Amino acid sequence: MRQKRMRISLLFVFILMSSFLISSLANAAEGTVDVSSSLNVRSEPSESSAIIGSLSAGTQISYEETGNGWASIDYNGHTGYVATEFLSSATSDGARANSVSGQTIVIDPGHGGNDPGAVANGLQEKDVVLDVGQRAAEKLRSSGANVIMTRSTDEFIELEERAAIANRAGADIFVSIHANAAAATSASGTESYHFPTSTNGQRLASSIQTELINELGTRDRGVKDANFSVLRNTAMPATLLELGFITNAAEADRMKTSSFRESAANAVHDGVQSYYGN
Ligand SMILES: [Zn+2]
Repeated sequence: MRQKRMRISLLFVFILMSSFLISSLANAAEGTVDVSSSLNVRSEPSESSAIIGSLSAGTQISYEETGNGWASIDYNGHTGYVATEFLSSATSDGARANSVSGQTIVIDPGHGGNDPGAVANGLQEKDVVLDVGQRAAEKLRSSGANVIMTRSTDEFIELEERAAIANRAGADIFVSIHANAAAATSASGTESYHFPTSTNGQRLASSIQTELINELGTRDRGVKDANFSVLRNTAMPATLLELGFITNAAEADRMKTSSFRESAANAVHDGVQSYYGN
């Protein structure tokens, strides 16, 4: 009798331990640090505990949820804790490249400072593309991208420097934003460029072009290749977008509106997202 009771309690302990093991395995996950700069690692699962280190944006980690919004990680051989709200789960195959999250994206608003770009119909290209660029950057950041602007104010930057900024940052993709001009004021529509030999550049240009046409409803002038400085000198897939024609009165009028700029920014965001496969 006594022996049987012992056996039952041992069985009970075994079941209890297995269920703990299974539940802790189920909570183990892979994730990507999804913050704009860096995520604090703490000694205890609490905001008030000591900071023992930090993880940079885009870092992939294995973690175990400990409840109440915290997860434990192995940090330099010690156990550290991070807030789970700043972790985005990796896909089951661990691939991170199919998400905008964690990507370093350079947004390059064309012209600036004493170079206004195209000027017509009461508009300067440099102003339109800076506004669209900033809106696009904000949207991409909300999706977890690390966005670098070649300029975020009205300043002049050499073409070579724009590419160098992206190369130094080890950027994943480069998106240059422009508006077109032509002697014929009837010229209209949207086009996107890539470097002739860049397959991924072509894919990027084409993903964004599709979204621009969807969002803006402009004439589709297509995806083209060109030996532009920013496309030639960037070490990552790059595209240069011509949103519309400043020299076309109707398109210039649209480009003055925040709804056009917001739509163009949405198209850049969605096009980049579709480039990454979702
Ligand atoms: Zn331009």
